[in-house]
Amino acid sequence: MTKKGLQLEPIASWMKTSRPVIISGPCSAETEEQTIATAKQIAATGKVHALRAGIWKPRTRPGQYEGAGDVGLQWLIKAGKETGLPVTTEVANATHVEAALKAGVNFLWVGARTTVNPFSVQEVADALRGVDIPVLVKNPINPDVELWLGALERLNKAGITKLAAIHRGFSSFEKGPFRNAPMWDLAIELKTRVPELDMICDPSHIAGNRDLIAFISQKALDLDMAGLMIESHINPDAAWSDAKQQVTPAVLGKIVSELVVRTSSVENKTFKDTLSILREQIDQLDDEIMQKLSQRMKISEKIGHYKKENNVTILQVSRWEEIVQTRIALCKAMGLNEEFTNDLLKLIHHESIQVQTKVMNQVAERV
Ligand code: PEP
Ligand code: MN
Repeated sequence: MTKKGLQLEPIASWMKTSRPVIISGPCSAETEEQTIATAKQIAATGKVHALRAGIWKPRTRPGQYEGAGDVGLQWLIKAGKETGLPVTTEVANATHVEAALKAGVNFLWVGARTTVNPFSVQEVADALRGVDIPVLVKNPINPDVELWLGALERLNKAGITKLAAIHRGFSSFEKGPFRNAPMWDLAIELKTRVPELDMICDPSHIAGNRDLIAFISQKALDLDMAGLMIESHINPDAAWSDAKQQVTPAVLGKIVSELVVRTSSVENKTFKDTLSILREQIDQLDDEIMQKLSQRMKISEKIGHYKKENNVTILQVSRWEEIVQTRIALCKAMGLNEEFTNDLLKLIHHESIQVQTKVMNQVAERV
């Protein structure tokens, strides 16, 4: 049981025994030949634990390939039988769940556009009541950890205990280097709130571009994620959906072999001793930083009283600009990142304003 009350089990034995776990397959099952040929080549890499393929595709605009539908399920099941690998597909409503269960799909995933909608997640959860099947839940398209957790809770309340999360990045209006901004902090937040929940990264949908997949995959492993879901296709450039981000099974094999798998706990004594000395130094410094921050806020408070007595505004733009300029120059000279310094100063300034606002609004104490 977690703080949030999630009752969890690993989705499969390979989830506990392999690092990283790899789920791969085409974005969409297009034809029987493409599904089976991709699956066979993926299996031949020897690096993959399960096969994926989208059967019902949630497309942003109509008129694009919307998936093979029920017939595609048969191709996926055949691909699983011929390779000996478990198979998974995306479900977004009760009809999908029923069809996938009837066909014998081994586990399911809930897509980003479904996680975002509690009605849809509840429909999927209700359709799964009484069924013992693993479900992976992608993050919602908007950066909201509560919704992500809420979807896991809805499935859990319906009796699904074999749950894991998939981090696939978040949609944003501003276009950066990624199709979906990774916002790693949100994945870390979910992992911190539910430590026993296995998390997989989907670098394909974060990247939107095959050249960034290796880089994102390595970063995910370095953040201690359990594995990766990577889209692959026998002929990626000719794929009917997400062509730019798919890789051939051979490239998939290469990406996975080149990943550096680091461990989160090391038994080596010298390593542990050195780490604990360095951590003590960090503890000491954090202590000093907090003390200094507390002293700084107390002075801010005094300034607040002084400004109040003299009827002076809290915000003085020229002073703020001077602080930012001098501190950024100083921090830069000390090797600190400019963006970090800026963010830190904004936080401190915001808190100072709060402290002084409180002082300004204090009603004079009666004697
Ligand atoms: C997919 O996995 O092909 C898919 C549609 O993903 P997402 O829900 O992350 O957009
Ligand atoms: Mn896709």
